[in-house]
Amino acid sequence: MKPLITVSNLKMHYPIKKVDSFTKYDLLKAVDGISFDLFEGETLGLVGESGCGKSTTRKLLLNVEPPTGGEVFYNDENIFTMDRSSLKDYRRNVQTVYQDPYSSLNPKWKVLKLVSEPLIVHKIGSRKSREVKVRELLSLVGLREQYIDSFAHEFSGGQRQRICIARALALDPRVIIADEPVSALDVSIQAQVINLFKDLKERLNLTYLFISHDLNVVKHISDRVAVMYLGKIVETASCDDLFDNPKHPYTKALIKSIPVADPEEKTAVAALKGEIPSPIDPPPGCAFHTRCPEAMDRCREIIPEMFSISGDHQVSCHLYTGGNKTV
Ligand code: SF4
Repeated sequence: MKPLITVSNLKMHYPIKKVDSFTKYDLLKAVDGISFDLFEGETLGLVGESGCGKSTTRKLLLNVEPPTGGEVFYNDENIFTMDRSSLKDYRRNVQTVYQDPYSSLNPKWKVLKLVSEPLIVHKIGSRKSREVKVRELLSLVGLREQYIDSFAHEFSGGQRQRICIARALALDPRVIIADEPVSALDVSIQAQVINLFKDLKERLNLTYLFISHDLNVVKHISDRVAVMYLGKIVETASCDDLFDNPKHPYTKALIKSIPVADPEEKTAVAALKGEIPSPIDPPPGCAFHTRCPEAMDRCREIIPEMFSISGDHQVSCHLYTGGNKTV
């Protein structure tokens, strides 16, 4: 199957001014050479701790700023060198839902304006047809049509996120990049919004890049998962394979850290020790070696390559590329 979006060796290094040195800048390597495919109709979960580069990846995919290096292909065209017309088409087809449904909605606007704004910006439809579309979208995301004349502050967090989803769907996109879309919501509401995402994907044949730090959330919605650590992807696999048979020590630690319902359950331990190192001065070799219980000498010197374990299961770890462990 041909990917809808292909990300190739994408890098975003931000210059950070030094205070007292002959060298003017350090480099913050927010994204450091990531590659992945996003296939039509799938949900790819992108998971990792805060600060691992997930949200910078989202910004790059939305072409908010040019990358330091690498390419993103949509319809065989690099989005960073597209002409205006192709870029407009790309932006129409790739929409986003953000983490915070409170700050992403203008409190002075009514729902009609909030949801129809993308149509207005893209000069689509008449005033009347836009209102009809907004009513359809509200119904699609499980909100009553009469809310069209209400202000954002009149809604709960879950309802606001539904309005954000309706707005993201206004242009009939093919891809939704959802960046921590349920992390600001109460746990009781999270499941409802996740189910809405799943339902909309089936009904509208959508493709999702679902970014989250929460493995429980990612597990419930993803077809495949990519695990990020300090600006790099360290493991990708189908969702079932990743959770049943994780390979990278970081993925194993993340899975062990998932809270369990039973407080007596022994796996409910904080398996991941230590802080994530600074992306300004990442450790040499494997960036995870400072926290890895299985680190070897070579891990401190040599950056591991991505290695194919089987099918679509890939891992970047010396244990599988000449270390002391077999697949
Ligand atoms: Fe651990 Fe070495 Fe694998 Fe890195 S390469 S995850 S330090 S075993």
